[in-house]
Amino acid sequence: RKNAMSLEFDSKSENESFARIVVAAFAAQLNPTIEEIADIKTAVSEAVTNSIIHGYDGREGKIVLTCAIEGSKITVSVMDKGRGIEDIKQAMEPLYTTKPEMERSGMGFAFMEAFMDNLEVISAPEEGTTVTMTK
Ligand code: ATP
Ligand code: MG
Repeated sequence: RKNAMSLEFDSKSENESFARIVVAAFAAQLNPTIEEIADIKTAVSEAVTNSIIHGYDGREGKIVLTCAIEGSKITVSVMDKGRGIEDIKQAMEPLYTTKPEMERSGMGFAFMEAFMDNLEVISAPEEGTTVTMTK
């Protein structure tokens, strides 16, 4: 079984729920459990929120969401062309946040890691960030 889709949308908070619903709808063909769908939706939300608030930080920009199904696995990737991450290892540490004043807890990457089976982050300052997750 193989299937893929890709979608581009504006960096706006309204699109956070849009993105997670799209992924849930696409993943439905795998007949996932309610828990699996909830995990995927949470992970997608965290990644898209990061692109909006950290990557673009209120500026206009595009986010590209890609989903690929292979066998019984789904791979979701969220890409922005925002500010990028200088130290990826540090950024992925639980409780690390560069926006403590915005009531961020620094748990986004930790959730993505916990709720998905695999997480990969590719990023470069001023170039952008791509988060790829598989379950
Ligand atoms: P929370 O997700 O709990 O609200 P957070 O977003 O700060 O808080 P993480 O999602 O774990 O925590 O991200 C950690 C840090 O990594 C962020 O504070 C930010 O500095 C950086 N970061 C994450 N995603 C991006 C991105 N797409 N572009 C630029 N920086 C990012
Ligand atoms: Mg976050």
